[in-house]
Amino acid sequence: MTAFQGKIQPIKLNASVQQALGKHLLTCYPHEACGVLLGAAAAGGMHIDRYLPMRNVAPDPLHAFVPDPKDWVAALYLEPAPVGLFHSHPHTAPWPSGADIQGLSSLGSQFQVYLIGSPGLSHGAPWLNGFLIDRQPDTSGKLSYKLLHSTLMLC
Ligand SMILES: [Zn+2]
Repeated sequence: MTAFQGKIQPIKLNASVQQALGKHLLTCYPHEACGVLLGAAAAGGMHIDRYLPMRNVAPDPLHAFVPDPKDWVAALYLEPAPVGLFHSHPHTAPWPSGADIQGLSSLGSQFQVYLIGSPGLSHGAPWLNGFLIDRQPDTSGKLSYKLLHSTLMLC
């Protein structure tokens, strides 16, 4: 076991992105919403300045998300490439599920940010949790994935 060294950097989120996430989450309700986050590494942490909603084509969209493959491929060709993934938990708190952790290995290394949202308590603003995707080789050299809870800073 190695302890995480140092402080986990915050994730900076434009207020317009927070609003877009909240809107998409409610539009898709009771289904899960999903999409990608655009932005860049900035001084003091990742800065997310755009959200690109995607269609959820999971067979069971009440409890899972699978981005539409056409939307997904189009997003991966964007320049610069997306740096994060968002999805919603319409019925539970925005903490990663076992399936969420398992899905991390399918994300390319350009994905550094992971946001989960749930319907907020006050109208409009979603309940958002932000994580940094941590990739560390295990003893056999295979990458193991973790989500490190980070602080969301609105800007
Ligand atoms: Zn989830």
